[in-house]
Amino acid sequence: MDTGKRISAKSISAEVTGIIGSLLERGLMDGVMALKKSGKGYAYSLLTKGAEMTDVDPLAPYLPTSAANIAAKLSRKGTPKKKIALFVRPCEMRAIVELIKLLQVDEALYFVELDCPGTLPSKYLTEHSIPGSDEFLNSLDKYRDSIRPACSACTDARTDQSDVAIRFLGTGGQLYILGKSEKGSELVKNLFPDAENIEEPVLPDDIVKSRKQEEEKLFQFFDKNVGGLDNLLNTFANCMNCHNCMRVCPICFCRECFFDSTALDFEGEHFVELAARRGDMHLPTDTLLFHIGRMNHMAISCVGCGFCEDACPVEIPLLTVFKRISRDVQALFDYSAGSSRLDEHPLKTFREEELEPR
Ligand code: SF4
Ligand code: SF4
Ligand code: SF4
Repeated sequence: MDTGKRISAKSISAEVTGIIGSLLERGLMDGVMALKKSGKGYAYSLLTKGAEMTDVDPLAPYLPTSAANIAAKLSRKGTPKKKIALFVRPCEMRAIVELIKLLQVDEALYFVELDCPGTLPSKYLTEHSIPGSDEFLNSLDKYRDSIRPACSACTDARTDQSDVAIRFLGTGGQLYILGKSEKGSELVKNLFPDAENIEEPVLPDDIVKSRKQEEEKLFQFFDKNVGGLDNLLNTFANCMNCHNCMRVCPICFCRECFFDSTALDFEGEHFVELAARRGDMHLPTDTLLFHIGRMNHMAISCVGCGFCEDACPVEIPLLTVFKRISRDVQALFDYSAGSSRLDEHPLKTFREEELEPR
């Protein structure tokens, strides 16, 4: 049971936007981050005036960046002295949990997790405008084939790690606003003085089943086309080494990356000597090394959000690669990225006896 409020909603988007307006107008928050129309798509916006909610659509089916990156930005210079709430999706919340544990995000921020029916890829923008959330939610069948692979296969569809959760999937038009932490419950009580103890609705079986099936398809694709050295080389054969996948990944947070440094710069003759050993050599030299290094650094915290794949100009199936590899790595450490703020983070935990050879 959670402290919460259930509302019959004609427009889920209008109700959620109304909640943001109330948070600001009543001084419960100084700033709220949510999606707002921007060009043909949506961008995150830090809202401060409850009366100015034009074009705000927190459930719009498009994420321009992971909100976890913004949470880290808001935390970088210390605990914010203003009350700020971020309206985020479950994959973003899971990344935030990882960044909290890695001391990149401050828990003083308020996180409001929204149910998520999926989002459209950035490439959709090249030909279309992103629809508003009411149109998207009312015509899910029309958009089903366009949503991002990460969303079709999003099996961790809810966390219980936010301060407040907003649920509406499979509720027949009811909106549930639930306090999930002490400060979140307090906020819900301030927003709704008649809040009571209510049960969180369960996610409908058809959503759970279809996402599991899509995830299984990704894993089968990996086993057939990516697993093994030759397949792996082939998968990354057209990588442009642009590092877009790293820049958008919420888990890749190092501000000085080895792969952006001069560590792999050598004199021209050194490259010729290296190439002469094999006859020829792929340039730049660090393309595959970059991916293996990145995998090594963040597979334990990968949350399967798919931002990497969405940002890849040559459509390398990065989500499939990272989701499958991180599944195995996380299982090895009995760890599930983003599912609990309390589980010890394997990268921060030293054990004298671990991963003994079998
Ligand atoms: S992966 Fe897609 S469906 Fe899952 S929470 Fe993120 S945006 Fe929503
Ligand atoms: S590697 Fe890709 S799927 Fe994994 S957390 Fe980073 S952006 Fe998300
Ligand atoms: S975004 Fe794509 S092309 Fe660019 S470095 Fe990553 S895998 Fe390579």
